[in-house]
This record gives sequence, structure tokens and C-alpha cells, in this order.
Amino acid sequence: MALLPESLELQVVTPERQLVREEAHEVQVPARGGYLGVLPGHAPLLSELQLGELSYRKGTVWRYLTIFSGFVEVLPDRVIVLAEAAERGEEIDLERAREAHQRAEERMKSQDPDLDWTRAQLSLQRSIIRLQVAGKAGGAHLAPGKLPEEPTHAP
Ligand code: ATP
Repeated sequence: MALLPESLELQVVTPERQLVREEAHEVQVPARGGYLGVLPGHAPLLSELQLGELSYRKGTVWRYLTIFSGFVEVLPDRVIVLAEAAERGEEIDLERAREAHQRAEERMKSQDPDLDWTRAQLSLQRSIIRLQVAGKAGGAHLAPGKLPEEPTHAP
């Protein structure tokens, strides 16, 4: 009987750059149907990704990235993510994300008849994921699924 691999090679690439090429022991990706957890030896699959958080564990340390849609290929010893855009948690400018969140909320509350609702919603969602990922990357390495506290905003 073939032995299961002990780790995975995780690759995360966008059209512009390679963000990750590392050994990992566990990976969670924002698949279309919900978060997908991958351990070494996982059955091969292909899935579309949606806006969300990608987290991976090397030993006991978790790292976090934003993913703005794309595709993932899972093989027993490899996870390859082709993302439209992605950011490492450490790269995220928290203040910029907070401002983008506030702008999007204000636009959505406004009575502007010319408001592009979909655009405002997408912008809000991107800012929420950035705040979530930056919060985890900057603070204690929480287990996936445990979200940092909701950001608060002055009224
Ligand atoms: P903003 O209104 O702040 O530009 P946005 O959601 O409209 O936010 P995007 O269009 O998603 O921004 O991204 C444009 C570029 O800016 C991308 O390269 C993205 O990685 C970068 N970017 C956006 N927000 C942040 C952030 N908070 N920290 C670091 N880089 C960011």
C-alpha cells in the first residue's frame, strides 16, 4: 500500500507574481461551495475559488492570504492556486482597508440613484476580507474559522 505524503507543496500565483511556494501541512481555501480543507493525501480535485481567505499551516504556524477568485488544483502532495489577485496578510494596509470599508458602507447607505450597487458591494466584501486576514496575520495565529472581532467604525 502506498504511503500517504506527510506534507503538501502549496503554490499560490496570480498573473503578476508568485506569492507562495512552500511546504504546508494543512491548507484551507475559499472554494465556490464553501471552505475546503486539504490535508496531505487528499483526493485530486479541481475547484473554482471565490473571494475569501486562504490559510495554511506549516507545523503549528498558520498564515493567511486574501484570494479574489480563481481556481485550485488539489493533488495528494500538492495544492496549486491560480488567483485573479491575492495578498499576503502582512502586505495589507489595515488603515486603507478600514477606509475602503467605510467608503463602501457610506455609498451603500446613500440614496444616490446612480449608485453601482454591485460595485459597492464587491468593494465592501474585499475590504471585509482584507480586515479579517490582516487582523489574523498581525495578531495571534488563531485557528481558521475563529474570526477576529468585527471592526468597529465611528458612526
Ligand atoms: P481601495 O479603494 O483602497 O483601492 P479596492 O478594493 O478598490 O480598495 P482593489 O481594486 O481591490 O482595491 O486593489 C487595487 C490594488 O491595491 C491591488 O494591487 C491591491 O492588492 C491593492 N490594495 C487594495 N487595498 C489594499 C490594502 N488595504 N492593503 C494593501 N494593498 C491593497
